[in-house]
Amino acid sequence: MKASPGRVTLVGAGPGDPELLTLKAVRAIRSATLLLVDDLVGDGVLRYARRSARIVHVGKRGGCRSTPQAFIQKLMAAEALNGEHVVRLKGGDPFVFGRGGEEAEHLRARGIAVEVVNGITAGLAAATSLGVPLTHREHAHGVMLVTGHARANGAPLHWPTLAAAAAQGLTLVIYMGVATVEEVQRGLLAALDAGTPVAVVQHASLPAQRHAVGTLAGLAALVREGGLGSPAVIVVGDVLRGLRHAALDAAPARRRRGA
Ligand code: SAH
Repeated sequence: MKASPGRVTLVGAGPGDPELLTLKAVRAIRSATLLLVDDLVGDGVLRYARRSARIVHVGKRGGCRSTPQAFIQKLMAAEALNGEHVVRLKGGDPFVFGRGGEEAEHLRARGIAVEVVNGITAGLAAATSLGVPLTHREHAHGVMLVTGHARANGAPLHWPTLAAAAAQGLTLVIYMGVATVEEVQRGLLAALDAGTPVAVVQHASLPAQRHAVGTLAGLAALVREGGLGSPAVIVVGDVLRGLRHAALDAAPARRRRGA
C-alpha cells in the first residue's frame, strides 16, 4: 500500500455528553486540521478542536440526505491526499450503524491510512442512563443491536424472528426505530409477550434526554404520546423489569391528556 501524506481518523464522538469521549478521541480531535462532523455529534465535543481547524458539518439527519455519502467519502479522501489530518467525527461508535466501515474501505482502497477510535454507542449510553445493565445475568444472555431503518442488502428485517431470539433471553436495542415503531411493535408481538418491558430514550446522555418506560403492548403509543422522536433508541427485554412503567420524563412535549 502506498503511504499517503495525510490521514483520516474515524472518531466515535459518543452519544453527546463530551465527558463520554475517550482520551484517544480528544487527542485526535485536537490534532485534526479538518473535522467532518455528523449531525448527531454534540456541540460540546467540538470545543476540543484547534482554533485553526476547519469544521465542516456533513449531517444527514432523519434520512434527508443533505450531504450524500459518496460526496463525504470523496471529500475525505481528497483532503487526506492533500496532506490534511482529517477527523471524521461520528455519533456514538463509528462502527455501529455509522457507515464507518464503508468509509474505511473507501479510504484504504486509495492507500490512505485510516485509524478508528471507538466511541460509546447510543444504545449502551441509553440503557446506562436508566440504570439498566443490558446483560444482567438474571434476565439476559446477551444483547442484539439492530436498526429499525435499514434494509441490509434490500431484505427488510423480520421482526418476529428477532422477537423469537429476544424471547430466548436476548435484550433488544433498536436504533433508528421510532419512525417505524408501529411495524416494530406488531412484528415483535408475534413472539414476545405483550407485557415485555420496553423503554424509549431520546437524546441519551444530553441535558435534553427524555425517556418513557412501558410494555410492548403500548410501545407505539409510548413513542407517540411522549412525543419521542429521533434520535432515540428503543430497548426491549426483561432487563428493564423493576423500572417504573410510566413516562418518567418531566414534561413530554405532545402528550395527550388522558391517553
Ligand atoms: N454510530 C451511532 C449510531 C448511528 S445511527 C452510535 O453508535 O450510537 C443513528 C441512531 O443512533 C439514531 O437514529 C438513534 O437511534 C441512535 N442515537 C444516536 N445518538 C443518540 C442519543 N444521544 N440518544 C438516543 N439515540 C441515539
